[in-house]
Amino acid sequence: MLLLLLLSCSAPPAPFVTSASSGLRFVSSSSSLHLLPAVLKHTGRITLEQTLRLRGGDSNDCNEFGGYQVLNNEMRESFDTVMKRRFVFMQSFLIHGGVSGLFDYGPIGCSIKNNIVDAWRKFFVVSDGMLEVACPSITPHRVLEASGHVKRFTDLMVRDETSGECFRADKLIEEFCDVDLMKDAKHSNETRREMMMSLKARAGSMTIEQVEDAISTFNITSLSTGAKLSKPLPFNLMFKSTIGPSSGSSVFLRPETAQGIFTNFKRLLEFNGGKLPMTIAQIGKSFRNEIAPKQGLLRQREFEMAEIEHFLANGETGHVEFCKMADVEVCLFSRTAQERGEAESWTTLGQAVEDGIIALAYFLGKTQKFLRQCGIKAIRFRQHRATEMAHYAQDCWDAEVLCSYGWVEVVGHADRACFDLQMHSEATDVPLVAWEQHQEPRERRVVQATIDRALIGKAFRARSKLVVEALEKFAEKEGEEALAFQKGKEEGAPEALKLRVEEEELEIPAACVSFKETIVREHGAFYYPRVVEPSFGLDRLFYCSLEHAFYVRGNDHERTVLGLPVSIAPFQCCMLGLSSNDQLMPIVYEIHEEMRKMGVNCRLDDSAANIGKRYARMDEIGVPFAVTVDFQSCQDGTVTLRERDSMEQVRVPKEEVPQLVRSLCEARESPDVSWAAAKERYPSV
Ligand code: AMP
Repeated sequence: MLLLLLLSCSAPPAPFVTSASSGLRFVSSSSSLHLLPAVLKHTGRITLEQTLRLRGGDSNDCNEFGGYQVLNNEMRESFDTVMKRRFVFMQSFLIHGGVSGLFDYGPIGCSIKNNIVDAWRKFFVVSDGMLEVACPSITPHRVLEASGHVKRFTDLMVRDETSGECFRADKLIEEFCDVDLMKDAKHSNETRREMMMSLKARAGSMTIEQVEDAISTFNITSLSTGAKLSKPLPFNLMFKSTIGPSSGSSVFLRPETAQGIFTNFKRLLEFNGGKLPMTIAQIGKSFRNEIAPKQGLLRQREFEMAEIEHFLANGETGHVEFCKMADVEVCLFSRTAQERGEAESWTTLGQAVEDGIIALAYFLGKTQKFLRQCGIKAIRFRQHRATEMAHYAQDCWDAEVLCSYGWVEVVGHADRACFDLQMHSEATDVPLVAWEQHQEPRERRVVQATIDRALIGKAFRARSKLVVEALEKFAEKEGEEALAFQKGKEEGAPEALKLRVEEEELEIPAACVSFKETIVREHGAFYYPRVVEPSFGLDRLFYCSLEHAFYVRGNDHERTVLGLPVSIAPFQCCMLGLSSNDQLMPIVYEIHEEMRKMGVNCRLDDSAANIGKRYARMDEIGVPFAVTVDFQSCQDGTVTLRERDSMEQVRVPKEEVPQLVRSLCEARESPDVSWAAAKERYPSV
């Protein structure tokens, strides 16, 4: 058996530089990279600082993000070319003209994305003991009506009054600001610049009136034709359909996976032995009819989400295991900082909790750790402004990742309080509640209804059961009113009680019911649990991981590399013969077979291209190791093992290489095994 190899693997080169300044400011996600001046061509990457300056931000620091530099125009072009040429992902149905917002993943993309999903499941579901469910995408109208999505899951839209083209209002305003700022790149007009920066920062959280006001104040017109824009309108983002041939039953494609979890709350709680906290996860497709999606994988109409609903026990304010995250350092961009035009700040989550970010803190730490594991370098957490939050949320912090599109939301963290459980309970009369056992019985004053069921039966016949339920609910919920009715009844006043039963106002004869106040001893109580939700967009994570991993060797744009972490690389290893010589190939096949038996995801390249070209092809798609059989292999039974980022090679006995590759791949999760140690143990080539 192989020795465990010590020390950590060499870090990928190229994308790291250092630069000194402080804080980050004013950047929000936008598609304005194409507006960056050509001056920056040929520099490979541009620093974050340069990006910010170009966009009008202050001098900023990229040190906190390991000096991470976003791709410049030329690098983005190379990146896009590789993605297309190697069919990592591509617009769907292209032979029929393509559809914006719909994408296909090719074999490489599929493998990387599946690895991200597997890693996510291990990191969250397995390691935190979460329960997982899988619910349908097709969701009845009544479910999404109860959850508030039918009325409120909207984006503001404006229309070009001549061409009819539709724009998402906030994106249009952001682009308008970018264009304006680029025109004034030298910042000659400081007031105008400030105004544009502030408008851009507010665009995503504007009310309908504020959008209208901005359009008229700044004379914003259609970016395509320059024509006048319509008044802003809310546009519901859900895809609507019907079930079955009679078209009687209206449905939507789910815009988030969460509702399947809420509607199953009762069963899930039973499954969990009635105990809270309880954490449920779901991975699956979601659908949003985005108004004018332009940002590739970042804004799709069908995309994959991985959502977690963490239900807190009564009285709990945060995650019970928060202490594990207290030392994690995070970059926070609070609502107040945004409103005051201040920079982000770095702090520990322990401090953040002291400052009031309590319920979501554990998951902010967990998310950051996972994003880093996927190779993401520049992460900040931005709090939503009050007008920006989804209708169900009390507080939201987005994990944003810096990429060539600017800061992009990759994971939403929402404190949903008990909004969803309460809404579904009220709509269905199924109480989605948990039971809390009191240490000592408590006394509570309640109003109870004494109902003459025979009289009710005579008066209301088929509806009598509903009337009884309505009376009990009335006593429970409207106790004071019930007692007032009783008082009046005793004084001979009311002849009937007016009560709404299923949308109809009924008059219940006073003789049918009486109310009285009593004291009950309770051993526990039902409550709606509070829920906090991290919601991952897996396609955005996939895209950002690829951008962050992408670099070129030297300045050669023909030699591109995807320095992906091994855990998400499309293949762990590649098997090659130096040539297709008859002596070499049987050894190649033999080792390949052995690798596969050991569970190493190993790609065989037996094409006729020269070895350098074949290494380059593997680098381009991010394969971290390559094993080559050469003529020496036939003599001494050794093969070469090459590491992608350093391009270093060692000679290893062929019987040892499958286990070595497996250990190296697992090593990224265990600091005991590394490429550096492999170099010490085996001779370099
Ligand atoms: P939200 O529920 O809007 O907070 O979305 C949760 C996550 O889903 C976001 O953080 C994104 O990563 C992802 N997401 C939302 N909309 C889209 C979209 N149109 N295309 C791709 N990913 C999306």
